[in-house]
Amino acid sequence: MHIGFLGLGNMGGPMARNLLKAGHSLTVFDPFPQAVSALVEAGAAAAASPAAVAEANVDVIITMLPTAAHVKEVYLGKDGLLAHASQGVLLIDSSTIDPLSARAVAKLATAQGNPMLDAPVSGGTGGAAAGTLTFMVGGSVSVYDQALPILSAMGKNVVHCGDSGNGQVAKIANNMLLGISMAGVAEAMALGVALGMDAKVLAGIINASSGRCWSSEINNPVPGVLDSAPASRGYSGGFGTDLMLKDLGLATEAAKHARQPVLLGAATQQLYQSHSLQGYGGLDFSSIIKLYQMGNQA
Ligand code: NAD
Repeated sequence: MHIGFLGLGNMGGPMARNLLKAGHSLTVFDPFPQAVSALVEAGAAAAASPAAVAEANVDVIITMLPTAAHVKEVYLGKDGLLAHASQGVLLIDSSTIDPLSARAVAKLATAQGNPMLDAPVSGGTGGAAAGTLTFMVGGSVSVYDQALPILSAMGKNVVHCGDSGNGQVAKIANNMLLGISMAGVAEAMALGVALGMDAKVLAGIINASSGRCWSSEINNPVPGVLDSAPASRGYSGGFGTDLMLKDLGLATEAAKHARQPVLLGAATQQLYQSHSLQGYGGLDFSSIIKLYQMGNQA
């Protein structure tokens, strides 16, 4: 299949490589020239704009962009995908954006004869490289069925979440919970250590008890508890604080539109905002424990 791919960053770059490995031909665009040349070396063709990708006789176009503003520009701009895509070309946006924007873009695409899915992912850059991402997909069942073989080349779980926008709903609900659970684990671990407990022993108790969760067991925020966790390598190389802050912002914004309270989500957003302001935006989000240490060394 001939696939257009736009947004070749930390996630999109390795995802595009996995499509090449699966035998698809690719035409790619990214405003960052090094990102494009890396993919061209791997066998992709380069295009000079989103319009040029759409006009390259592609069957499918996938986007992996930073924010909803980028998605709107790339799909709806004068030089954008909708203005230049042939009817029937399948559009898949894997960026994490708010559900309302995802639904608005998909509605315009569908109206002009381009089926569209929102298909945000979890699994991080490691999952993108290994081809083990989870895709949360919103859109009609028939379009989902059409996209399944393509998404399966980049991920090991592809889940249909319902109508357009519901992939984004699943993504932001999960990540809001993740942000809350990490802040909770950080608070509990810092308390235990401040009261004299050994961090490894405490983590072992929590992980064999009812407080256990991914944040305590796989990504424990205390350095030295887990050798494989970002905390044990200076909080580098995980899921950045600023990306968590972005997802909490999407959750609280979507909640406002739905008039649905997100009491813990909003409080947690403020925690990550303070943490980012203190200069920790680039560190793994488990570094939120620094807010609780205040001189104690957890
Ligand atoms: P990134 O910043 O590394 O990559 C984004 C890429 O998009 C960059 O290469 C940038 O040059 C490109 N881009 C910007 N404007 C463009 C345009 N007009 N046309 C084409 N390309 C353009 O970001 P990332 O970490 O790859 O994340 C991408 C999306 O995936 C985000 O929405 C993010 O929230 C989500 N996500 C990231 C992770 C993660 O661990 N990094 C995990 C899950 C989901």
